[in-house]
Amino acid sequence: MGKTSNISGFFKLTIDERLEAVRNFAGLSEADVAMLKNADALSLDTASRMVENVIGRIQIPMGVAANFLINGKEYFVPMAVEEPSVIAAASHAAKLTRTRGGIFTSNSGPVMIAQIQAVNVVDPYAARLRILERKDEILGLADTMDPILVKLGGGTRGLEVRVIDTRVGPMVITHLHVDTRDAMGANAVNTMAEALAPMIETITGGRVYLRILSNLADHRVVRARTVVAQEAFDAAEVVDGIVMASAFAEADPYRAATHNKGIMNGVSAVVLATGNDTRAVEAGAHSYAARNGVYTSLTRWEKTANGDLAGTLEMPMGVGLVGGATATHPIAKLAVKILGVKTAVELGEIIAAVGLAQNLAAVKVLATEGVQRGHMALHARNVAVNAGASGDLIDKVAEAMVRERKVRADRAVELLAEFRG
Ligand code: NAD
Repeated sequence: MGKTSNISGFFKLTIDERLEAVRNFAGLSEADVAMLKNADALSLDTASRMVENVIGRIQIPMGVAANFLINGKEYFVPMAVEEPSVIAAASHAAKLTRTRGGIFTSNSGPVMIAQIQAVNVVDPYAARLRILERKDEILGLADTMDPILVKLGGGTRGLEVRVIDTRVGPMVITHLHVDTRDAMGANAVNTMAEALAPMIETITGGRVYLRILSNLADHRVVRARTVVAQEAFDAAEVVDGIVMASAFAEADPYRAATHNKGIMNGVSAVVLATGNDTRAVEAGAHSYAARNGVYTSLTRWEKTANGDLAGTLEMPMGVGLVGGATATHPIAKLAVKILGVKTAVELGEIIAAVGLAQNLAAVKVLATEGVQRGHMALHARNVAVNAGASGDLIDKVAEAMVRERKVRADRAVELLAEFRG
């Protein structure tokens, strides 16, 4: 049997046993394991080279989601998140997807968009065509800005020009499409857009202000789909309940916001663990969800002809493996090593798979027992810790509060006093 991330009772292992399982799975070295356990993995010195005005670092737990089978390949997926139950839910849902072969993914290629804003153009529609006529020259100049990227098979892929109406008059917006390979690409495309500004001013006769990447990366989308066998659910109606939950989110922005937040629980946790830009991916996700003018859900859940549950997710995914914190944060580097990904698109597809699984877990719970029970059990542990519990007392106090249905700070303090005698 080949390696698998489907280890029964993985969550019951000790931290050392889990580390051992992941070490064997991903071929980590002893030094890697030591780094994962090192409280000072991100040194102050490295931190102060990453951002400005450093005074410390804040630690966030990192776990691995188990059971992910994506395109026939096994993955343990590192997730960095402060919210309880996210990693457990992803692992649970990933197991459900294995009933019909796991999750299958694809992508549109790693093409980012840079925007160049020209204003005060007297003939915006004619200017648009003048820009498009010089496409080869424009793309050629942009490519000279990043010979490394071009050598790696990336570089410019296309040019679009839009005339938009604004309250201060029409603007001519040039979109440069750039294949940024394994980079997230913000710096890469911004540099190109800046270099093109004088040429765009000459062609349009206007004035260029902004030259910057768009996070609505709709030429860099990733897709994930799965089917869950009807028998995987306790009752056949669960499939119908999930389809209803999906339809609700598709039709209602109030519901869609929370539905998508659930997807982003998984997405942002992997984005963060791999040192990528959570705000970039979040901006892309939500703007894509509203691309047709009304905010809607990023996933669709349908009932198949034979009563199984089919789910799909499509979203922009501006993540990279070079540049940014992915290249500087030692734990982010290990997260990438655990995933075993070699390209940015493979990373992006895995993130989509996690988003889909995370959503499945949420809609399943919502369509059945409701979130509160499971959430409360985990929340109770936090409340117990905040009240001063440690060691065995954390679970004792938490369990007592859940049993009494009184998960509150004042009750935690009382229980703690009782248990301590
Ligand atoms: P980067 O500039 O550090 O690296 C990209 C460059 O690395 C490429 O231009 C290329 O020359 C080189 N390279 C080497 N190997 C490569 C490979 N295999 N594939 C592709 N390029 C390779 O990084 P970046 O991705 O351009 O910028 C990412 C950073 O920009 C992130 O930290 C992000 O937070 C930040 N940022 C984001 C925004 C935004 O989202 N709106 C805006 C500005 C900056």
